[in-house]
Amino acid sequence: MSLMIVGSMAFDALETPFGKVDRIIGGSATYAAWAASNFTQPIKQVSIVGGDFPQDEMDALTARGVDMEGVEVVKDGKSFFWSGRYHMDMNTRDTLVTELNVLGQFNPQLPASYQDCEFLMLGNLAPAVQISVINQLQKRPKLIIMDTMNFWMEIALDELKQAISMVDVLMVNDSEARQLSGEFSLVKAAKKIQAMGPKFLIIKKGEHGALLFHGKQVFFAPALPLEEVFDPTGAGDTFAGGFIGHISRTKDISFENMKTGIIVGSAMASFCVEKFGPNRLKELKQEEIDARIDEFVELVNFDISIIS
Ligand code: AMP
Repeated sequence: MSLMIVGSMAFDALETPFGKVDRIIGGSATYAAWAASNFTQPIKQVSIVGGDFPQDEMDALTARGVDMEGVEVVKDGKSFFWSGRYHMDMNTRDTLVTELNVLGQFNPQLPASYQDCEFLMLGNLAPAVQISVINQLQKRPKLIIMDTMNFWMEIALDELKQAISMVDVLMVNDSEARQLSGEFSLVKAAKKIQAMGPKFLIIKKGEHGALLFHGKQVFFAPALPLEEVFDPTGAGDTFAGGFIGHISRTKDISFENMKTGIIVGSAMASFCVEKFGPNRLKELKQEEIDARIDEFVELVNFDISIIS
């Protein structure tokens, strides 16, 4: 029984007000796998790369208990490439380039050994691929969580809505929730999006934390106030990886346990932004994760007594 992660594995070029990198490793499935592998192994990875993707990056994931049998390598193809520029607040960004390359022709065929997946994370990539993966599974996983972004709302809205209708948890950022629902109020947006299918909705608000909606229940977790944010790329995928990593370790899909998952995801995301690319995630030690989760607990913990 295991966790399956589907998503992009990529090269990114990034510009922040504090620095610039031309070609570093990225991709939704890369960040998610690095984060989730701290909590659960094995992870069954589903993605596609070109012959230009470094073998040592694949080997590093394998060494972390990530099964790469489901990662297709197109020897004469180019890996997905994304480039973005962050604004001064480091919270908002513009996509400069999206080159799908091999991702544009991706038609994954799940290996037989992936059929035992108990938890499924559909990271950000084409909704048609997300749908195909769900349809290939003979037994529905206990929980399916899905991430997406405005890019797919703009070019594949019908397929995206179909994918959304098939999952249990949808994860988007605040502007994507507004775009998808046509509502400014996130409470109204959450109602509309839940009516599209997912029983749980997570709305990420960057440095302002994350909200979890389920029916009439709402939970909010702040982001850890950090002195320095170096590169926010992948924070959303890292959050998702930490969340689903915690859920698959505990095998508990209750709202209460999802609250803990949100805290774990937020702690992992706070590491991700400390260095360019997934570098900080690669070197993390369990003691550091535990200490950061404790910092979160401290941050939100207070006693209140109102004397009237
Ligand atoms: P995040 O900062 O969590 O939204 O994730 C950024 C990562 O998502 C980058 O490493 C990109 O390679 C990847 N990415 C960006 N756009 C797309 C897309 N349209 N489909 C799949 N992955 C993407």
